[in-house]
Amino acid sequence: MSKRRKLAAGNWKMNGLSAELSNLDELILSNPNPACDVLICPPATLLERMSRRTAGSAFALGGQDCHVAVSGAYTGDVSANMLADAGAEYVILGHSERRAAYGESDTLVQSKAVAAHAAGLVAIICVGETLEQRERGETLDVIGGQIEGSMPRGGDCVEVVVAYEPVWAIGTGRIPTLAQIAEVHDFLRADLTGAFGSNAEEIRLLYGGSVKPSNAGEIFGVPNVDGALVGGASLNPSDFSGIVSALEAVP
Ligand code: PEP
Repeated sequence: MSKRRKLAAGNWKMNGLSAELSNLDELILSNPNPACDVLICPPATLLERMSRRTAGSAFALGGQDCHVAVSGAYTGDVSANMLADAGAEYVILGHSERRAAYGESDTLVQSKAVAAHAAGLVAIICVGETLEQRERGETLDVIGGQIEGSMPRGGDCVEVVVAYEPVWAIGTGRIPTLAQIAEVHDFLRADLTGAFGSNAEEIRLLYGGSVKPSNAGEIFGVPNVDGALVGGASLNPSDFSGIVSALEAVP
């Protein structure tokens, strides 16, 4: 039986003002004692205020990106230490929106993962193919390359979570078939084991891309799926609670 604790992670992206703090209160009230880890990654502006609300609850908080440096002349950026200082325990790295919009490379994501580890944060490293890459039959090669380039090396690897997020499934309502999810998650487990040995057994593998309460149960039933990284549905407390419930129901 797997020792990996399931994880439901919500990525609020660039959404959330003070008014949305009540959504977190509602989530905590609805899930006072979740049987899985629950994580919300709000915009950095809400982290510190949200950390006051999650204190004493089972909920964890995370950032959505970090800079590789601890501090310095990097206007507009936020360091991993700053996220930790504001109450984060995790940070999402290499999200496809950042890879596409800001040209983030695997090498940069790897450097950020090292910085996150140094700050005591668990990095959630995102990988995933575009539709064109899938149609060309390149999915596993692309994902293998992203893992090879983005994962920190050495003992640090166990501190990470990997999220498989097909780019074409993010925010589109389209999801891969369960067989396609299984193929990639089995590949990830084998690939990580090849690279990191038996330590890789502890790495949680999340699926992300249009997860909703209505499809979460079947996705969570796929072997080697240890939870989900959820975008749109995490903004709605009742939808996200439905996803948490589906994850809790997995034996
Ligand atoms: C995401 O952006 O990480 C994501 C999975 O988004 P959505 O759930 O909205 O597809």
